[in-house]
Amino acid sequence: MLSLFNTLGRRKEDFNPLVDNHVRMYNCGPTVYDYAHIGNFRTFIFVDILRRYLDYKGFKVTQVMNITDVDDKTIRGSKNEGISLKEYSERYAKAFFNDLNKLRIRKATFYPRATEHIDEIIDLIKDLIEKGYAYENNGSYYFSISKFENYGNFSGIRPDALRRGARISEDTYDKEQAQDFALWKAWEDDDGDNYWITELGKGRPGWHIECSAMSMKFLGKSFDIHTGGVDLIFPHNENEIAQSEASTQTKFVGYWVHAEHLVVDGKKMSKSLGNFYTLREMLKEGHDPLSIRFLLLSSHYRVQLNFTFDGLKQANESVNRLQDFLRRLRDCQATDGYSDDLGNSTKTFEQAFENAMNDDLNMPIALSSLFDFVRETNRWLDNKEMPSRNLTEILTLLERIDTVLDVMVSDEVMLTDELRGLISSRDEARKNKDWKTADRIRDQLYERGLILEDTANGSKLKKRQ
Ligand code: AMP
Ligand code: ZN
Repeated sequence: MLSLFNTLGRRKEDFNPLVDNHVRMYNCGPTVYDYAHIGNFRTFIFVDILRRYLDYKGFKVTQVMNITDVDDKTIRGSKNEGISLKEYSERYAKAFFNDLNKLRIRKATFYPRATEHIDEIIDLIKDLIEKGYAYENNGSYYFSISKFENYGNFSGIRPDALRRGARISEDTYDKEQAQDFALWKAWEDDDGDNYWITELGKGRPGWHIECSAMSMKFLGKSFDIHTGGVDLIFPHNENEIAQSEASTQTKFVGYWVHAEHLVVDGKKMSKSLGNFYTLREMLKEGHDPLSIRFLLLSSHYRVQLNFTFDGLKQANESVNRLQDFLRRLRDCQATDGYSDDLGNSTKTFEQAFENAMNDDLNMPIALSSLFDFVRETNRWLDNKEMPSRNLTEILTLLERIDTVLDVMVSDEVMLTDELRGLISSRDEARKNKDWKTADRIRDQLYERGLILEDTANGSKLKKRQ
C-alpha cells in the first residue's frame, strides 16, 4: 500500500483514491515567463516519479498540469520585449515541453492554459460573489479571507487580525502579507492589450483562481492529489483551497504533496536570486539529460537537494553503472535452467524496491536496493553462468522498474525470450537464404515499434523513433 506525506495534516497517510482505482491528480505547472531552471524541474521530476509509480501500481491516472500564461510576470516580460503576450508565453511553453521530453517526463493527460479558461474563471468568481466570499473594489475583485472560516488552517499561517480587510493585488506575496487577495484585476495602463471584457468588467484573472477553476473543470469538485513545490503552500495553495471550498462547500483535495527545494549553497534556486541554471544551458555545456534526471530524482522529494556539479558527476556515474549492467546482461550467454538463489535475490530486490517506494516514495532506499542488486548480480556474472529463465526474470524486472526511473533503457530494447526466439529464427532464415521468412519477421517486429539492424556482431534490436 502506497503512503504519502500529506501537507494537509502534516503526516504520512495510506493513499486511496476517492473513486475505485482512478487517481485524479493536479500539478501546479510552470509560469511561462522564462526558461524553466533545474530547480523547477526538481519539482516536475518529483511529479513524474509520483505519476509513474501510480502507473506502476496499476492505477488509472488522470493528470492535469496547468500552464500559467497570464500573470504579473508574463505581462511584464512581454512588455519589456515589445511582443504580444501570446507570442511571448508560447515561446516559453514550447521550450518547457521540449525540456520535458529531454528529461523523459511522461506527458500529463491535459495541459490547460489560463488564457483558454477565462469563462470558467469568471463563473467561479461570480459564484464566490453570490455566496458572499468575494467583493469588488475599484473594478477588481478580491477574496475576503475573514469570510472563510478555515483560512490559514492548511499552511498554519494566521492572518494578522489588524490587517483584516486589507488587500493585495500582486500574485505572489509572503506570509506577513496574508490578506484579501485578487481574483480579478481591473485593467491598468501597464496591462496594455492584455485584458478580457467580461461580466466582471475589463481586466484579467489573478494567479490563484486559475488553478481552482482549471483543476475543478478537469477533475471535479473533489479530487485525489494536488502537488507543487513547498513555496506554493502559502499563499497559492492556501488560496486555492479557500476559493474552491468556499464555492463547492466540499473538501477540495485529499492529498497535498509538496516537493522540497533544489538549493545552491543553502539558498533556493530561483530567478530572483540569479543562482539558477536552465536545462538548456546545461545541455549546451554538454551535460547529459539522463544524468540530470537521475540527480533530480535520486534524493527524497521532501529533503532539500543541494545542487553541485560534483553531484551531477556522481549521477552520471550511477546512470553509466546501470546501463553497463543492462548491457552486460543483454550480451551474456545464458545457459539452460533456473537458479533458486538468483531467483530469490531477484524477488527480494523487487520487494525492497516496492517497499521503499510505497513508503512515501523513499527513493534513496529504493535506489540503494537497486545498486545492491546490481553489485550482487555482477558478482554472479563474474563467477557463474546465467540461467536463461533468471535472465528473463531479471530483464523483465529491470524494465518494469525503469518504467518508474526511466534512466536505464536507451533506444536499445530489452530482450525477452520471445524476442530472442524471433531474432534467432530470422538469423536461421537468413542463413538458409529464406529471405521471405527473414523479411516477414523483420516486418512483424517493425509493427511492434522495433527495428532490427544487422551489424557485424549480429542483429541488434532498437526502438523505432
Ligand atoms: P513557477 O514557474 O515559478 O510557477 O514554478 C514552477 C514550479 O517549480 C512550482 O511548483 C515551484 O514550487 C517549483 N520551484 C520553483 N523553484 C524551485 C526550486 N528551487 N526547487 C524546487 N522546486 C522549485
Ligand atoms: Zn497552481
